[in-house]
Amino acid sequence: MQRRLLLDSDDSRQLTPASLAELEIPTPQLYKDLFYALDDHDANFPVKSDTPGNFEPATKTISVPPYGLEYPAKRIRDKAALESDRPPFHTAMAQFGHEMQHAYDYVLGNSKGGMEASAGSETKYLAVMDTELRAWASEAIIYKAGGETIQGPGKELLAGWSDFSPAQIDRTDAELQKNAIWARIIKYSTANKIGQHDWKTCARTGDLLSRAAEEKKRVEEHVDAPRPTAPEVTIDNAQALPDALKNAGNRITKVERAGDYRVYLFRRQRYKIHKDVVGAGTWFEQAAGSFV
Ligand SMILES: [Zn+2]
Repeated sequence: MQRRLLLDSDDSRQLTPASLAELEIPTPQLYKDLFYALDDHDANFPVKSDTPGNFEPATKTISVPPYGLEYPAKRIRDKAALESDRPPFHTAMAQFGHEMQHAYDYVLGNSKGGMEASAGSETKYLAVMDTELRAWASEAIIYKAGGETIQGPGKELLAGWSDFSPAQIDRTDAELQKNAIWARIIKYSTANKIGQHDWKTCARTGDLLSRAAEEKKRVEEHVDAPRPTAPEVTIDNAQALPDALKNAGNRITKVERAGDYRVYLFRRQRYKIHKDVVGAGTWFEQAAGSFV
């Protein structure tokens, strides 16, 4: 299958849900959802390791901090993953998940227009904060799946969401800095400030604090549950072929023969297609190869 989430470095390649499963590292469903959403998208998303983590809309490049990748990469080279390896793997997943959320926001057109607005404008500030809040929540949700094993920054991030309330904005900066979410709001509101406004004036702008409250709720209410596998789709005639499948090109993987049917995998969905349909179409040629 042609991967669209281009995990080109040896380190980042270890972060596919399939390699994590091979190592018996429990993979949170949100992590898989984000990974597959980008992997299924028509655009390519190159992934490289770089500090800090980042998503660059112009090139659609996702950067993941190398310190989050080194440990998993080493463990995989050693061909062993221990119970005690789970927290560092979780850190790598949470950091990658944060950046994948930014990329997915871009795909969905969340904050659209806002991200291209000029620096220092209210529109740009609110767009940056909107995607950051969502990314901080997704990062926390991925950590949350690690349960009691999560320590350090992951635990602080979860505690930050748990203790967060918009009304706390009246507290002193020193007090707010103790909360990981407020500390990030202060940092990002300072770096992306509207004109010459102080961070509190910025954070009181628009719906920012209620957006933060929404994301807190998302973290708290999220339950990590595996998505049920979609039932196999049987296609007996060409008219029934979905457009996505017709245009899927070399992204279809042939799986097996089943009597008069050929079974293909596309976007984690199994399609059982009658051989006459396969034989009549041109859409499958790249995928089918010598199989038909
Ligand atoms: Zn971010």
